[in-house]
Amino acid sequence: MPTLRLPRAELDRIEEKVLAETRGSCRHCGACTRVCPQGINVADMLRYHAYVHNYGERDVASAAYEKLGKERAHLCMQCGACQAACPESIGLPGVISSVRIELA
Ligand code: SF4
Ligand code: SF4
Repeated sequence: MPTLRLPRAELDRIEEKVLAETRGSCRHCGACTRVCPQGINVADMLRYHAYVHNYGERDVASAAYEKLGKERAHLCMQCGACQAACPESIGLPGVISSVRIELA
């Protein structure tokens, strides 16, 4: 298969465009989960939130949330460490609250 070779400037331009178009979206870096003092899998919570709000898949979200252990989200102290660690500054404490209420 032939390899596509692009000049550095062109690669930079494409990368900038991709970053601009995905700004505010999760990059799946896991930083939020790593810093949570309560051991909450914040990235998974964001995923369940997306199942409900972006894909209309409440049943899938509920089943996944149940499997993870519902009590997890209830440990959230709303400390904001996850949001501070997020390169996209996603409002994660709000997401956790919403998951806790909606998937209870
Ligand atoms: S706000 Fe909640 S989920 Fe985020 S780091 Fe703090 S305890 Fe963890
Ligand atoms: S820190 Fe932000 S970008 Fe990274 S996984 Fe968590 S929500 Fe996604």
